[in-house]
Amino acid sequence: MTKVLYPGSFNPITKGHMNIIDQASELFDEVVIAVLQNTLKKVGLFTLEERAEMIKELYKEKKNIRVIVSTDAAVDVALSHNCKAIVRGLRSLSDYDFEVQLQQMNKEISDNQINTICLFADKEYQFISSSMVKEIHNLGKDISKYVAPLVQERIESKKEHV
Ligand code: ADP
Repeated sequence: MTKVLYPGSFNPITKGHMNIIDQASELFDEVVIAVLQNTLKKVGLFTLEERAEMIKELYKEKKNIRVIVSTDAAVDVALSHNCKAIVRGLRSLSDYDFEVQLQQMNKEISDNQINTICLFADKEYQFISSSMVKEIHNLGKDISKYVAPLVQERIESKKEHV
C-alpha cells in the first residue's frame, strides 16, 4: 500500500490544492494531508485547526484522504505516518526553485528516507494561490472560481483579512 503525505500551509485550501489532492488520491492508496505552520510565512487568515477543519469537511466522503495538523517537520510527519513520499504541487519556475531546495533538504534531514513527488495542477488551476485569493477578495472581487463554496463562505465570514 502506497501512502503519501501532502504537506502545506493551506491558508486556505484552494482549487489548485484540490486539483493536486484529486490527482494524488487517484495515484496512491492513501493521501495524508498535513496542515503545517510554514515559519517563512505569516500566520495569516485561518488557524491551523480552521484550515484542517475546512479540508476535512471537503473530503469527508473520501475514504483514502486523511487530514492532520502538526507543528513538526514534514519529513517527521511523513515518517511517523508511514508515508513513502511527500507530494508537492508545481505551478511555475519560481515554485520550482523553492521545491528543488526543499526536496533536497527533506532528503538530507530524513537520511534519504523521504523522497518528493511533484504533480502539476491542470492548467485552469495553475496560477491560483491562497495569498492571491485573499488579496482579490480584499479588493472586493469574486473568488468563487478559485475556492470551494465552503471556503468562500469562511473567508467572507472573517471580518479582517490578512
Ligand atoms: P507551503 O507554505 O508549504 O508552500 P502552500 O499551501 O502554499 O504551502 O502549498 C502547498 C503545496 O501546494 C505546494 O507544493 C504548492 O506549490 C502547491 N500548490 C499550491 N497551489 C497550487 C496550484 N494552484 N497548483 C499546483 N500546486 C499548488
